[in-house]
Amino acid sequence: MIFKLPTLPFDKTDLEPHISAETLEYHYGKHHATYVKKLNALVEGTDLRSKSLESIIQNSEGAIFNNASQVWNHTFYWNCLAKNAGGDPTGEIATAINTTFGSFSTFQTQWSYNAVNNFGSSWTWLVKKADGSLAIVNTSNAESPLTDDTVTILLTVDLWEHAYYIDYRNARPDYLKAFWALVNWDFVNKNFAN
Ligand code: MN
Repeated sequence: MIFKLPTLPFDKTDLEPHISAETLEYHYGKHHATYVKKLNALVEGTDLRSKSLESIIQNSEGAIFNNASQVWNHTFYWNCLAKNAGGDPTGEIATAINTTFGSFSTFQTQWSYNAVNNFGSSWTWLVKKADGSLAIVNTSNAESPLTDDTVTILLTVDLWEHAYYIDYRNARPDYLKAFWALVNWDFVNKNFAN
């Protein structure tokens, strides 16, 4: 196994009642683990075995891209969530959100609008542009802004149904409402400083 499933940065019950341990058993224990397993099988016997995950994502397509990118996206997503987190943003990201969007509340509205209307299996991202301003980016399937070298990724939410179907069935807006109670602003600030 070249690529490993990273340890979750929290216990499986830590995100309850917003995201259940059962969701994490499937989402992390089955979906994320399967992307890692498939990626390892796909790179076996190729020169990609010696490449970083980021390099594979930036230089591949098809099944290798899809599995590599989903491995990276999920690891990043877990780090965006934390126990007893959420609430108003703190530090540098609070200022940046106010500067770009006017207020945290306006940012939340725009984020949710983008995420609710991101069709099908997809991701919504917050990125920092070269000039320091922020932008909300929607991607489909396994895609992420990692292939855009003009931006720094700050935050994401997984919009595949496997992220919320156990807890919220088809109600993506309810999952997105709960997301605000889990956002790890310390992690977002760490990314913002990069
Ligand atoms: Mn997922």
